[in-house]
Amino acid sequence: AQARIGLIGLGTMGAALALNIAEKGFPIAVWNRTTDVTHRFKADAGELADRVIPTDSLKELVEAITPPRAIILMVPAGAAVDQQIEALTPYLGPDDLVIDAGNADFHDTNRRNQAGLPFHFLGMGVSGGEEGARHGPSIMGGGSEADWSSVADILTAISAKAEDGTPCAARMGDEGAGHFVKMVHNGIEYADMQMIAEVYGIMRDGMGMDAAQISKVFSRWNEGPLQSYLIEISAAVTATADPHGGKPIVDVILDRAGQKGTGRWTAIEAQHLAAPIPVIEAAVMARNVSGQLDQRKAGEARFGAAPKRADFDTGALEQALIAGKILCYAQGFAMIAAASKPFGWTLNLPEIAKVWRAGCIIRSTMLNDMAEALAEDPARNLVLAPFFADLVEKALPSLRRVVVEAIDAGHAVPALVSGLMWFDMMRTSRGTANMIQAQRDFFGAHGFERLDGIEDSHGPWAMQQG
Ligand code: NDP
Repeated sequence: AQARIGLIGLGTMGAALALNIAEKGFPIAVWNRTTDVTHRFKADAGELADRVIPTDSLKELVEAITPPRAIILMVPAGAAVDQQIEALTPYLGPDDLVIDAGNADFHDTNRRNQAGLPFHFLGMGVSGGEEGARHGPSIMGGGSEADWSSVADILTAISAKAEDGTPCAARMGDEGAGHFVKMVHNGIEYADMQMIAEVYGIMRDGMGMDAAQISKVFSRWNEGPLQSYLIEISAAVTATADPHGGKPIVDVILDRAGQKGTGRWTAIEAQHLAAPIPVIEAAVMARNVSGQLDQRKAGEARFGAAPKRADFDTGALEQALIAGKILCYAQGFAMIAAASKPFGWTLNLPEIAKVWRAGCIIRSTMLNDMAEALAEDPARNLVLAPFFADLVEKALPSLRRVVVEAIDAGHAVPALVSGLMWFDMMRTSRGTANMIQAQRDFFGAHGFERLDGIEDSHGPWAMQQG
């Protein structure tokens, strides 16, 4: 036994993660279902090959690792993880540790933890795609403190580092907490991408800008408060020419968005938690509508395309995006806070913001300020933190104007509008749910609370009906 750790599944993510681990000085034993892949991996590992131990069976893999063993699974989420857990079981002892680093549904991670596996188990969310896995991902761990500590040196070594040098790897809580936080991360990713797509649409269809002009705007925004990986790649995307014909490549890409489901999981879980995350829900909805190409064509044929032209300025769009982004993250963090109690986790919001600062897809400058604001008072909604309240106050008139003009001209801006709707509700102390309660009491005798303290929780509806 000479490896410090093992890894199963040398696909896109597994191979990149294994090289990252070897590069940081940890000898790693690897196994892949298709054996050729394992040997090719070693052969292609270059100067890191000395630290890579290829194995042809799970027994060999386990024997190659110094006990107590740690083995990372990087296989597709779901059945493949259960299969690998079952296949490993005969070879592992009670002190060994299996780490599921795929995009597991956190309910599955909870289930696996509660199933009484005969070894230790960590669920670990890894973000940043292949590039992140190779050079520094953001890592969100779930499991016991002791299990996290047993591999924390490796995980912090391979993780991305924030500007201040802090590793973007942390234990989020027990059981599925890491996969839960990764899921919400992906939900926010959907929302960030959707809001960017919405302002892109306004520039393209409303302002008649071409891709090169739009790219310049994104590049400029990337110098300001919106600085982020997603704005940066949006600038790069719009600046890239199609190798087949030379047009901007974005103009020849079909407008149908794929999804692997993590955004949808976030929306579904938010409903279970009664946590309002309308910006993320709108982003999932927009991907679903984008998939209904035939219906969209039939709709345009019947109703005609909206006029879309509108007199925007890119400064207002930037402010709208700033406001939308803050509102979206405020919702996402509040959802995470809402999960702590039912799942028995103590999710640390400032720590989560810190872990997202580098390595992951939603990394951005703003997350530095969010980490600080959440540290001041984790129980307070992010939008009420003085720093962000001021930013929102400043940017809100632009968000409102952009949304109003967009709606007037027929631009679909579901994510931006959902952020604004939530904001207008959350800053209204006297809303309209008194009407809902009256209706509920009328038809179902569900009762209501009164504003004046009189102890009578039902309306005189029956009398009037009679
Ligand atoms: P790939 O398809 O590139 O690789 C899958 C790997 O799993 C291959 O090594 C494959 O082996 C192996 N595998 C598949 N089925 C089984 C099975 N039943 N038993 C054993 N091994 C199996 O996937 P990715 O690397 O992209 O993704 C891996 C995980 O990481 C997924 O959970 C994914 O959601 C997650 N993830 C992916 C990200 C990305 O950007 N791609 C980002 C973050 C997380 P074989 O060579 O034999 O086919």
